[in-house]
Amino acid sequence: MERFYLTVARVAKKTLHHMVEHRIPMLPDIYSRHFYRFLSSTDKESQEIIEEQRQGDFKEASNHQDQSLRIMKELSTMIDKLDQVTGNHCAQLDNHLLNLKAYGNITDLAQLKREIAEELGIVIDNNKAIHSNIIDAQETVKRLQKKMEEVADMATIDELTGLCNRRALFSRLSEEHSRAKRYNQTFSLLLIDIDDFKNVNDEYGHQVGDGILKGLGSFLRQNLRDSDFPARFGGEEFICLLPSIDIDQAVQAGNKIIKMLAQSTLTSRKTGVTLQITVSIGVANFAADDDVDSLIKRADDALYLAKRRGKNQVVTEREL
Ligand code: GH3
Ligand code: MG
Ligand code: MG
Repeated sequence: MERFYLTVARVAKKTLHHMVEHRIPMLPDIYSRHFYRFLSSTDKESQEIIEEQRQGDFKEASNHQDQSLRIMKELSTMIDKLDQVTGNHCAQLDNHLLNLKAYGNITDLAQLKREIAEELGIVIDNNKAIHSNIIDAQETVKRLQKKMEEVADMATIDELTGLCNRRALFSRLSEEHSRAKRYNQTFSLLLIDIDDFKNVNDEYGHQVGDGILKGLGSFLRQNLRDSDFPARFGGEEFICLLPSIDIDQAVQAGNKIIKMLAQSTLTSRKTGVTLQITVSIGVANFAADDDVDSLIKRADDALYLAKRRGKNQVVTEREL
């Protein structure tokens, strides 16, 4: 553990120094990208120490998730029980009412009083049981909410690639969208999809496929600008958010990725398999009437066109 902290401190120091020197905004997501960037240029042992810990943290996160599921099950059993108790309670009340109605001719008032008191006693006991069940259920709901919040807080990094995940991407996109709208600024999106990735899985197996996705994650981290924000959008699709970048600059960034990939190979570290891949990229630029979804939709349409035109290329929304 100590080695882990020492390694983190060393890489963190370099990262912070670099960010201050280059006046890079001190935002957590930007810091984490730079951190991983410095990490990938450091020695293999440090990388392994941190990767090991990261995997451990993910295990902890999935433990949290398991616990939430267990609490949810508990809650569902409680609600079933409550449903049963209230069902019985209603049936008993019906029964009591019938009993009381059956006293057509009242000859023995004392007997009737006893019967009513007995019936009311049962009703009160039942109500107490229902009340205590409801309190238990409320407490369980509170516990569940807390667990779910913990899980949500942890889940901003994509486990496989170490990039930000879809959730973190949408949160950052919405920030960028508000900023661009408020200050009349621009930003662009690259939607990147690996070409024929299914063939990689089919030919080499899923484990190699995973390693290549991981490799592309590192590649993007290393080959994008400091201020850019790459994230895993899902499956073999990635989105790079390019703050303050207009559409022509975004096309340049996309073309740089295509060119750099043509000159590189990606290695699946676990299996040692090295492959060359190509990607298709759809580019969209923020427009005044955009919301996040409409922007992604245009990038997606452009990506689709890039695939139809033969893959391994950049297409912009202007060509749609
Ligand atoms: P195209 O050039 O049109 O994009 O073809 P493609 O084969 O890349 O696209 P398709 O959508 O047909 O297949 C995507 C593949 O990506 C299928 C799916 O199994 C694989 N994939 C998605 N997520 C993962 C993952 O996490 N790990 C691995 N190994 N494969 C994944
Ligand atoms: Mg795809
Ligand atoms: Mg694909």
